Amino acid sequence: MENDKVKIHDKEFRIFITRDEINSRTNELGWEVSKKYKGLNPIFIPILNGSFMFAADFVRACTFDSDMMFVKIKSYEGMASTGTINFQLGFEGDIKGRHIIIVEDIIDSGNTLMEFIKETEKHEPASIAVVSLLLKPDAVKHEIPKDYIGFRIPNAFVVGYGLDYDGLGRTLPDIYQLDI
Ligand code: 5GP
Ligand code: MG
Repeated sequence: MENDKVKIHDKEFRIFITRDEINSRTNELGWEVSKKYKGLNPIFIPILNGSFMFAADFVRACTFDSDMMFVKIKSYEGMASTGTINFQLGFEGDIKGRHIIIVEDIIDSGNTLMEFIKETEKHEPASIAVVSLLLKPDAVKHEIPKDYIGFRIPNAFVVGYGLDYDGLGRTLPDIYQLDI
């Protein structure tokens, strides 16, 4: 059973999306994506660190042959987007002519994703799609692909299920929202 409230560093968070809700939505997304990608042998590119937990569950909900490549990007300090993105781990294989499925935990301003899509396009893939567990529609500043979104959420800071607050909270199985 999940706790209703957690305290992380100096802040209180309350339960927002439970593990069961995450699980059933992830399975739906896997099913939708599988209809389209069967036989295409796409490459999943999860953006670390935040998306590791969602990516692990999401790829298991997909029923087609695929490959994985991980990249690591940092754009957040504490609770604020820094506005600049920093590649800490980049492309290591050849993605030319391949179908790419970027896997994100959350799209906030969309800065990280836009920069990453631009970087990916330079490598001439056959196509690029985005799967994100969460999207903050009121925060997005870019035209980004919104085909596969788990949950559209308000503009409040969330933690758990891979998402951290200054290094803590990533291993919580449910998603919590800042209590204000
Ligand atoms: P963006 O570039 O879209 O503003 O932010 C992208 C990244 O910032 C996300 O992939 C995630 O790692 C982090 N981020 C954005 N919003 C939140 C949030 O509410 N909670 C946490 N823990 N991280 C967030
Ligand atoms: Mg992320």
